[in-house]
Amino acid sequence: MYNIFIIYTGGTIGMVKDPESGTFIPFDFELIQKNLPDLSRLNYKLTIHSFVPIIDSSNMKPHIWVQMAELIRDNYERYDGFVILHGSDTMAFSASMLSFLLEGLQKPVILSGSQLPIGEIRTDARENLMTALEIASAKKNGKSIIQEVCILFDNKLFRGNRSFKYNSDKFEAFRSPNYPVLAEAGIHIRYNEEMLLDNTDNEFICHNQIDNRVAVLKLFPGIRKETIESVLNSDVRSIVMETFGTGNTMTDQWFLDSLSACIQSGKNILDISQCKVGSVELGRYETSQGLKAIGILNGYDMTFESAITKLMYLQGELSSQADVAHYIQQNIRGELTKND
Ligand code: ASP
Repeated sequence: MYNIFIIYTGGTIGMVKDPESGTFIPFDFELIQKNLPDLSRLNYKLTIHSFVPIIDSSNMKPHIWVQMAELIRDNYERYDGFVILHGSDTMAFSASMLSFLLEGLQKPVILSGSQLPIGEIRTDARENLMTALEIASAKKNGKSIIQEVCILFDNKLFRGNRSFKYNSDKFEAFRSPNYPVLAEAGIHIRYNEEMLLDNTDNEFICHNQIDNRVAVLKLFPGIRKETIESVLNSDVRSIVMETFGTGNTMTDQWFLDSLSACIQSGKNILDISQCKVGSVELGRYETSQGLKAIGILNGYDMTFESAITKLMYLQGELSSQADVAHYIQQNIRGELTKND
């Protein structure tokens, strides 16, 4: 009998249609149990913790990430694995943040949900939940096979901090193009063992400090100087700059001067690409050479979700901007691959 702790935060999986407005609204975990009577017949001892209130994940907040991390910390020793039922809209942000907060994890933390509520006939909820439970309990030689935070959706297991929601219409809602799928469920669940994190020799530490003073500057041809400066001058410690291709930007002197002044004032600017596949390569083109010279930080192949949550986590832990700048460019939880 495996002991699994389920954290139910909300999301489509447990939603019902409001008869008056026709919109989907979150409902309690009993709805899930009612639609999955088989749950009680399985080889799992399930403990359910429902959040109050249950939310659509578009309402996710940093303090809820801390609550989730601390719930896992407080129940860590007593359970074989953890399943978090969560709306898909911000699931990749939560999975990324939890990967940073839960250092040295030696047990599986599997986030899942569904595109259709569990009460609908064609729902993907049952399969997702059953597969998430199986992965959360899977062991080899007495150790958990998965020792990291993952997303399970449509029979594929992804590293949480490498994934993003790319489809709001298909059951295949997530992708992680810069890192291979960690497992695929068919008749058997096949694990991509070489690509998994192994924390066997690491100490489990739950962090709980988050500093959300982060802003985003998404570049586009024709963006106005005033727009750029309003972001650069906002009251934050770091700015994620979403650039073109391999990390390129326009080379106008006023633009480089604005970035440089912002860095001189003590802020970090992290370069990540608007492309979903591939990596930033500062200096590959003339259009990114100047960025390196003024101290723009390299986000390599991090997802947007990882970049944002990693900055919030590092800023919560570290008071020095230079330390944040250092660690944001290092691989700390399998979230980036260096190319230099
Ligand atoms: N809006 C929903 C949520 O993120 C969508 C979903 O669950 O898939 O909570």
